[in-house]
Amino acid sequence: KPMENRITDIGPRHFEEFYPPAVKANKGKWLYHEILEPGVLVHVSETGDELYTVRTGGCRLMSVSHIREICEIADKHCGGYVRFTTRNNIEFMVDSKDKVKPLVDDLMSRKQDGGCYKFPVGGTGAGITNIIHTQGWIHCHTPATDASGPVKATMDVLFDDFRDMRLPAHLRVSLACCLNMCGAVHCSDIAILGYHRKPPMLDHEYLDKMCEIPLAIAACPTAAIKPSKIKLDNGTEVKSVAVNEERCMFCGNCYTMCPSMPLADDVGDGIVIMAGGKVSNRITAPKFSKVVVAFIPNEPPRWPKVTDTIKQIVEAYAKGANKYERLGEWAERIGWERFFEACELDFTHHLIDDFRDPAYYTWRQTSNFKF
Ligand code: SF4
Ligand code: SF4
Repeated sequence: KPMENRITDIGPRHFEEFYPPAVKANKGKWLYHEILEPGVLVHVSETGDELYTVRTGGCRLMSVSHIREICEIADKHCGGYVRFTTRNNIEFMVDSKDKVKPLVDDLMSRKQDGGCYKFPVGGTGAGITNIIHTQGWIHCHTPATDASGPVKATMDVLFDDFRDMRLPAHLRVSLACCLNMCGAVHCSDIAILGYHRKPPMLDHEYLDKMCEIPLAIAACPTAAIKPSKIKLDNGTEVKSVAVNEERCMFCGNCYTMCPSMPLADDVGDGIVIMAGGKVSNRITAPKFSKVVVAFIPNEPPRWPKVTDTIKQIVEAYAKGANKYERLGEWAERIGWERFFEACELDFTHHLIDDFRDPAYYTWRQTSNFKF
């Protein structure tokens, strides 16, 4: 199809080719939308057209047969159209209300052998939606924790809040498996962050053969790496690097450039829990997430301490926050220290931060505490 004067088929096809007919016909004409029940939305157009969306949770690692099943559902109910949201939810859209119930019933009836839902309907409004996350141990080279494992374990613990909308407002959970943060952990209500605690190990014997040394040096954001000549055990002198460990913030950027500088470590690596961030500017300005638990060791396959901590925070938020108040707004209203008290989390001086001033330029005075 000639779109944008294209003369070859190189590159992705134009996204407009994938619009469901009702979306294409009503582009720019939508009047409003509302959530009819958890997981079901309606968009109403000025033309009188209605578009019903049924949202289901997507799993993290999908097999070909699972993707085929998604396509089969889209063919059966939605004229072959389906979309993925940025949080890996899967949205099936139909153009009339009578098609909604058969679609929801079909999705909820599909289960794994153990009885788990394959396509649970939910993830809308004042509840939990799918966790946005990064690649973890499966794909990336720098993770300090896994992505799929902790996300699955956390979503299992929060599943009821995916299915209903009992919380005061949206509660967005994210995971990034290192502090380079491919996930949106810097601005999430609850963030799970993989964190290394040890500097890179240096494999001097192979370093100058495996790496562009100037690139590895340039990759370090804290200028902790410098060129160095090293004498190996056999007496040979080789070109390598030295790391100023005092300056290292364990980000792993050097390992991205140089495979001879690995920093994965079973004791040093683990998870930091952060909370209170948001992207939205509704009611208050966007906020950064702040550290609430400085370190939890990796505990595969179910990460119990991580999931218990997150559940504690969610329950305290459900109980304490006002309607429409996001988690960070609640923490700001009651005070950072009382937030720890409400969530039954330990508060130490390492966790002092000020939710009321622009982030990261201030260190609050003890006399200002709300103890
Ligand atoms: Fe890799 Fe870090 Fe991104 Fe995870 S967050 S996928 S470890 S770069
Ligand atoms: Fe520099 Fe990060 Fe490597 Fe540390 S881990 S040496 S801060 S690039």
